[in-house]
Amino acid sequence: TSLFANVEQAPRDPILGLNEQFNADARTTKVNLGVGVYFNDEGRIPLLKAVRNAEVARLEAASARGYLPIDGITGYNQAVQKLLFTESSPLIAEKRLVTAQALGGTGALKIGADYLKRLLPNAKVAISDPSWENHRALFENAGFEVVNYSYYNAATHGIDPEGMLASLNSYPAGTIVVLHACCHNPTGVDLSAEQWAKVVDVIKARGLVPFLDIAYQGFGDGIDADAFAVRQFAASGLSFLVSSSFSKSFSLYGERVGALTIVTANSDETGKVLSQLKRVIRTNYSNPPTHGGTVVATILNTPTLRLEWEDELAEMRDRIRAMRTALVEKLKARGVQRDFSFVLAQRGMFSYSGLTSAQVDALREKHGVYAIGTGRICVAALNNQNIDAVVDAIADVLK
Ligand code: PLP
Repeated sequence: TSLFANVEQAPRDPILGLNEQFNADARTTKVNLGVGVYFNDEGRIPLLKAVRNAEVARLEAASARGYLPIDGITGYNQAVQKLLFTESSPLIAEKRLVTAQALGGTGALKIGADYLKRLLPNAKVAISDPSWENHRALFENAGFEVVNYSYYNAATHGIDPEGMLASLNSYPAGTIVVLHACCHNPTGVDLSAEQWAKVVDVIKARGLVPFLDIAYQGFGDGIDADAFAVRQFAASGLSFLVSSSFSKSFSLYGERVGALTIVTANSDETGKVLSQLKRVIRTNYSNPPTHGGTVVATILNTPTLRLEWEDELAEMRDRIRAMRTALVEKLKARGVQRDFSFVLAQRGMFSYSGLTSAQVDALREKHGVYAIGTGRICVAALNNQNIDAVVDAIADVLK
């Protein structure tokens, strides 16, 4: 018999499955709010001008394509550290940071997970309830048991702060806690400064291991405001991990640009941890690709490109927020009784809309408006051309 005769079909990715269904839908009025990608007002994934300019410079330099170091481009890794912690951070001066260029945020999480499995073989991993759909699978694949901590309160469309702290308080020392640093995916609901302070305190008191995932820095309130949690943990003196993704903030989804940063207690630890992390990378994919990392490093380290990028990032952030406002106002103007103002308090690309799975089905079947069954919509896929159709569709399914 064939080697693969008994292989079972793996379940298909629910979001990619929804995309296939969307593509096959013949209705010209269809709208895809199921994706996790920023679209501009013309409904296209933008190629940022800063990226284009850095790419032109790179092509003109006609550089050779040798292997990068295992941990990637030094100038890139340093720029990542400054973005997370600021240029004047004592963590940089004290050499308490290990940063490795990684294959997007997912790649950063994966090398972090593999490294933690060697360091803490018996630890459990706690992720938010709900969380990005790949967190659980990724950490389980790295060999961890994954549990959920309370996070979202559907009744208030907000955080369940007591539930979250109770979950954290129930974990044994050494439990790895994955936290969305900003722009929580899928809910759009972030902790307040006071809530972060309490979370940091509990994590410190219980000896938990924070792993911050920052995939939307600059999409919420700005580059520095969105790094608030990262900087709170830095100020706490704890050791922790951070995975950065630049897929969204540079609109470089397919180039796989991200980084893993590990905060250690001192420079001696830094050297040793880096040597171990390099082993993990070497046996996974040897070293990262050149293009995306070079482009991002060039932008971050060249003042004119940096300003251009910050403007473009602000434009994306402002457009999403304008769409949040438009959605809420238009639903109200359309006579929808339900109060959707909670959408304004949410941050980043996503919104837990509060629509039920049956309402999401009706949106899709009757109106060609595609959302995730949990009610998650991608606000960054709304634009001035499609928003009225979406508002009409939501008003109809709420009738
Ligand atoms: N972490 C979170 C919370 C995300 O939402 C995403 C992307 O959707 C990622 C990580 C992965 O980012 P990347 O596409 O760079 O691998």
